[in-house]
Amino acid sequence: MKLPIFKPFAQTLEDNALDLRRGETHTLQVNTGLLCNLSCRHCHLSAGPGKTEVMERQTVAAVIACARRLSFAVIDITGGAPEMNPFILELLSGLAPLTPRLVLRSNLVAMSGRRREEILALCRVCKVVITASFPSLNEAQTEDQRGAGVFARSLEILRHLNSLGYGREAGGLELNLVSNPAGAFVPSGQQAQERQFRQVLRSKWGISFNHLFSFANVPLGRFRDWLERRGIYDDYVLRLANAFNKNSLAGVMCRSLISVAWDGFLYDCDFNQAAGLSMGGVRRHINDLRRLPEAGEAIVVDDHCYACTAGAGFT
Ligand code: SF4
Repeated sequence: MKLPIFKPFAQTLEDNALDLRRGETHTLQVNTGLLCNLSCRHCHLSAGPGKTEVMERQTVAAVIACARRLSFAVIDITGGAPEMNPFILELLSGLAPLTPRLVLRSNLVAMSGRRREEILALCRVCKVVITASFPSLNEAQTEDQRGAGVFARSLEILRHLNSLGYGREAGGLELNLVSNPAGAFVPSGQQAQERQFRQVLRSKWGISFNHLFSFANVPLGRFRDWLERRGIYDDYVLRLANAFNKNSLAGVMCRSLISVAWDGFLYDCDFNQAAGLSMGGVRRHINDLRRLPEAGEAIVVDDHCYACTAGAGFT
């Protein structure tokens, strides 16, 4: 068997006398399912059209009940495309009164069709933060990752969000963007990218937003398949490993977050969910979550954790 050319992530931690353990848990991330209108190349969950893994009404109710009995400073709804979940309005309206910060992640182009105005009206009333994927300012690069026509449609939806007050100084509604590299490399600095996106989006298309987050692609799911087909999986993970930054560990999301999957089972983060690694190494359902994990409790790690700790890391 061919040995990987990179050191296991756990070994890197040990060699640096580091440990990855929980701090204060304050965020609940809710994955509404793998159904999506796109099949992006970088998707670590391999989400796409035709996927049947979708959060059902009783799991939505279990998530709302959990948010009621435990306190979360942030609740972050993600997918797949959350807009395609048939119970998204119930989820949003049930969670909004239970947290000071409710976030809806969107690929933008799922925000179309008959239900769009209903979802957006509820988001405005509840001051839901919208965090939208907008990988690149380059149309060809974007469409190579996400499909034909996605770039122009994303711009159109960003303009619509701006017209509703999202991402506008006076609007009081937060609109954030998420970018990621077009291929198998570590992203450049987030602050410089944010400045560039702000300048280009405003000058070329009159679009504004609040913050930009820049993430490395995580070598799982469809992105891992893509790397393996090209024979560059090891090279990519090695590149991430060579950029390991021990200072990034303090800010990785698993230290403060619980990720609940479409079927109600719990993970330390969305990436461990994609890798099938249960929260703290124990398979547990949200119905059984009676207390938040305590500071110092174990987090399950694997080699995909290099994507969170390369360069400036994930925040
Ligand atoms: S992949 Fe998950 S467990 Fe690993 S460092 Fe990132 S957030 Fe933490």
